[in-house]
Amino acid sequence: MTKRHLTGLSRAELSEYFAEFGEPRYRADQVFRGLHQRRLHSFDEMTDLPKGVREKLNESATPSILTVESKYVSSDGTRRYLMQTQEGNPVETVFIPTENRDTICFSSQSGCALKCDFCLTAKLGLLGNLSAGEIVEQVITVLNDVYGVGGQTPHGTNLVAMGAGEPFMNFDNLLKALEIMSDEDGLFIVPNRVTVSTVGIVPKIYAFAELERRPNLAISLSAPTDELRNKLMPVNTRWNIDELMTAAKAFERTLKRGERFTFEYVLLGGLNDSVEHARTLAAVLKRHDLRRAKINLIPHNPAEQLDYHPPDPAGVEAFKQTLEGLGVSAYVRTPRGRDIFAACGQLAAKHEPNLVNLTSTKSAEERNV
Ligand code: SF4
Repeated sequence: MTKRHLTGLSRAELSEYFAEFGEPRYRADQVFRGLHQRRLHSFDEMTDLPKGVREKLNESATPSILTVESKYVSSDGTRRYLMQTQEGNPVETVFIPTENRDTICFSSQSGCALKCDFCLTAKLGLLGNLSAGEIVEQVITVLNDVYGVGGQTPHGTNLVAMGAGEPFMNFDNLLKALEIMSDEDGLFIVPNRVTVSTVGIVPKIYAFAELERRPNLAISLSAPTDELRNKLMPVNTRWNIDELMTAAKAFERTLKRGERFTFEYVLLGGLNDSVEHARTLAAVLKRHDLRRAKINLIPHNPAEQLDYHPPDPAGVEAFKQTLEGLGVSAYVRTPRGRDIFAACGQLAAKHEPNLVNLTSTKSAEERNV
């Protein structure tokens, strides 16, 4: 019998689950807090539950289904985790510490179907959607590794759905995971601390705009013309830049006062990084009257299997200044964890033999490295 993964159940589902056992609702609340607030990785540690309840839970359910295969730590403190689902599919998660806040970059899918040409994950193809529980468990695993099981997170945690996969191709599981993680009796990571990054699944941008408690949105653009974007991001042949910008405008209309959203633009040396590209990009935003968009410029991270080059640093600055001169806010994102292949576009769910493998755990029980 497959055990039920309780980490992926909403409060209501957990109550139903306990009702089936003939247990009162408050038991579900105890277990929810045990899993998400105390971040316990076994029912046996939930000593506030009667022994009989713990035994019943051990027979039919599990708090953990991901296995940590390895962990790499960068010289800048970034940590990269390679995990595995029960089916053996790879899952990658990255922890990025900054002075004021930590960021966890989680995956929504194992591999990806979308074939962006500058992305290593694309080489894997789509191996599977991750369940809500597998998404939540990535975050719990990382927090426990960094701060100890249930340890305080002194800097607070931001989440970004920018790991492997296209989050909007796994929309329902993503939203369920975010709802579970926002619960104040659990991880309590509220939507405005979360950013979801899409390559432009247009119908889902409209659906996302309708959500009441909504995370921040980032749209990965990386080219200002259809001709170039079709080559770099084949999703553009399904929804072109005009359709994408129309959806972005619809999203922009729903922003509250002071809120903004982001376009991400990976700068590929000699390909999309000229001053002329920056001018065309500013013109696209102007044509669609996108006033509350900011541009995150991401210098391409080199990877052996990809035939692209990082941009020239002076060219990055010129690109940024051109945008700013045309009234568009632009920021250059400092790459993190390049040395452990944890930076954007470098996740390929494989072990790097030249890196120090700090851990190799094989069982779910040992997953807290
Ligand atoms: S950039 Fe994102 S959407 Fe594109 S192939 Fe990579 S993981 Fe998939």
